[in-house]
Amino acid sequence: TPTSTAQIRSDFLEFFKGKGHTIVPSAPLVPGNDPTLLFTNSGMVQFKDVFLGAEKRSYVRATDVQRCLRAGGKHNDLDVVGYTARHHTFFEMLGNWSFGDYFKKDAIAWAWELLTQVWKLPAERLLVTVYQTDDEAYALWRDMVGIPEDRIVRIGDNKGAPFASDNFWQMADTGPCGPCTEIFYDHGPAHFGGPPGSPDEDGDRFIEIWNLVFMQFDKQSDGTLVPLPAPCVDTGMGLERLAAILQGVHSNYEIDLFQALIRKAGELTGTQDLENKSLRVIADHIRACSFLIVDGVLPSNEGRGYVLRRIIRRALRHGWMLGVRQPFFSAMVGTLDDVMGDAYPELREKRELVERALKAEEERFAETLDAGMRIFDDVASRSSGAIPGEDAFRLYDTYGFPLDLTQDIARERGLEVDMPGFDAAMQRQRETARAAGKFTSSAGLSADLVAQLLPTVFVGDDQTEADGLQILA
Ligand code: ATP
Ligand code: MG
Ligand code: MG
Ligand code: MG
Repeated sequence: TPTSTAQIRSDFLEFFKGKGHTIVPSAPLVPGNDPTLLFTNSGMVQFKDVFLGAEKRSYVRATDVQRCLRAGGKHNDLDVVGYTARHHTFFEMLGNWSFGDYFKKDAIAWAWELLTQVWKLPAERLLVTVYQTDDEAYALWRDMVGIPEDRIVRIGDNKGAPFASDNFWQMADTGPCGPCTEIFYDHGPAHFGGPPGSPDEDGDRFIEIWNLVFMQFDKQSDGTLVPLPAPCVDTGMGLERLAAILQGVHSNYEIDLFQALIRKAGELTGTQDLENKSLRVIADHIRACSFLIVDGVLPSNEGRGYVLRRIIRRALRHGWMLGVRQPFFSAMVGTLDDVMGDAYPELREKRELVERALKAEEERFAETLDAGMRIFDDVASRSSGAIPGEDAFRLYDTYGFPLDLTQDIARERGLEVDMPGFDAAMQRQRETARAAGKFTSSAGLSADLVAQLLPTVFVGDDQTEADGLQILA
């Protein structure tokens, strides 16, 4: 029987526990220690101050399974979800950490041991990248591990390209960073794409599974790299990508956990074809939305709450495309609890509250989604190339269509949104009326529900508190 996602989580933690690591719980999606960061986008976020030497822990080796969200800020994969086999908004990152203890040699040796001895991945399916000037990592892979030179690729820092390999890792524009070495898995020539560093590396044949970062610097806002008090190791491996390999499938959406969500979405929307892209997007988005609510974010028109609202509305629009005209999204939460509640007791505990919060947002958007879609269709049928900014603004202001939702719908029809026109319409509206439309006042949640959800909000985080207050107002 193929290795379950649950088994992979525990194999990983046990392996590193056996190497002297302390098992640390996942931090919430809302970073408690960093107002500059919208969401926890990688395992290192909760350890940022430890790298910087500003915080001491009782251990120098740690391992964890961190819930992550890449739907805003420096790492944003929202627009590729549903289009690639390997990207989610919410995903789980397996990590091991050295705080000034071991460095490149052990990090590389253990990663290889876990992949090829514990999980028995065939070595000839794996290839690695190293930072262009990192001769030390290169030599370790070649001489210690024994990887042939033609499967070790030197890569630079690739600014700008959204997917292209980038072997200098940064959590954000400032903060801890350093060169990295990444491990890729070759899913075979039946899939499109070239190896990392090649022009068609963005395909889904060679999939990056594990990033080993050698944290050495604290990047300043002027770009200067200040050495950290002690070099550290930070690794991150995508649980879903590894599960795909160990379960013998190509896409993350085919793994056990996602199949359960997709079957449920198929049932709720009356969709037979379980490879339908909309089902994948819905399965992805229910995880992101539920865990955001678990971690104290509620739908609103600002900051984190607006990211949540945008993701919910994207999911609801996909349900609408499948012909659904009544609430369905909140009915996914039970299945999510079935597949993830053991690993995340906080989800199980708040399950009903999450359902209620999602349902309230569903009911609210249902009032305008259908009419908005008809307007979109009408405008699209009259537009060639671009949706006029005026119309995109009307959808935003009157029908509660976030701009990125309209852009996403437009993209499916080979259209764009006229952005200067949208900005101009927004500007005009700001000038004529201070009071924004009906979507800016409240999230439509009962005060009682808000009260039950809010205590988990991090005190001291202005943005999230502001969202909460806005809902109560
Ligand atoms: P990619 O190049 O495929 O977008 P990345 O280089 O942006 O991945 P890292 O920042 O190095 O990813 O994160 C470490 C690991 O987390 C990756 O090797 C991958 O296994 C996993 N990962 C990253 N982004 C996602 C995502 N959006 N969905 C699922 N897993 C992800
Ligand atoms: Mg990426
Ligand atoms: Mg990458
Ligand atoms: Mg990477």
